[in-house]
Amino acid sequence: MKVAYKTDVGKKREGNEDSLKVDEGNNLFLLADGMGGHQAGEVASEMAAKEAHAYIVQALNEEENKDSLSKTLSKAMFKAHDAIVEKAKTDLNLMGMGTTLVVLVIREEKATICHVGDSRAYLLKDASEQITKDHTVGYYLVKQGIMTEEQVPPQKWHTLTQALGASTDLLPELHHVDLKEGDTLLLCSDGLTDMLADEEILKIVRKHNDKVDKTVNALVKAANKKGGRDNISVVLVRV
Ligand code: CA
Repeated sequence: MKVAYKTDVGKKREGNEDSLKVDEGNNLFLLADGMGGHQAGEVASEMAAKEAHAYIVQALNEEENKDSLSKTLSKAMFKAHDAIVEKAKTDLNLMGMGTTLVVLVIREEKATICHVGDSRAYLLKDASEQITKDHTVGYYLVKQGIMTEEQVPPQKWHTLTQALGASTDLLPELHHVDLKEGDTLLLCSDGLTDMLADEEILKIVRKHNDKVDKTVNALVKAANKKGGRDNISVVLVRV
């Protein structure tokens, strides 16, 4: 398995509110995209990645733990959420902070993915498959048949229906993917997917094939070339 990752502030933002946690020893990968003023977004995303990672590693190593991997990932989301809510109570500047989180674990040629928010996981082979469905108002309106994609006002694609630390009702979503040798999994923040279409991402990934370091650099470069409006983060895992 080959792994590469990169996070970049982009061309327009002052700070980077994305956080990554890459744990190759446990085949465990986390990506979070925070929101909130006064560096609160940075605090939220960093806490989410750190707290969820710590919980998952502890659960995986506990002999008497009977939870399935899915349950563990889901619980980790709530643990991170609670920690962020508690932290926000300690500082007025942190009030209302929130974050997305997407977690990927690979075990025996199976990927288990859990997410909240609009940071995405893709499976890239001959074609590109978006595994996670964004938790945004835009996506919800289309799914419920209330509007067509064309009718959704642009800002609704960026309004989250749930976020760690900021939602009262959290519904982490789980996905399972069977992997084959040569498959590529990509975790990314919306700073990548707002700048590049799925086909463009796939083209870059296929161009560099198994040179994962080159691929992540090329992805970030391409998003910046298109304007880099937001922080850009990618984790690439080639099986
Ligand atoms: Ca973002």
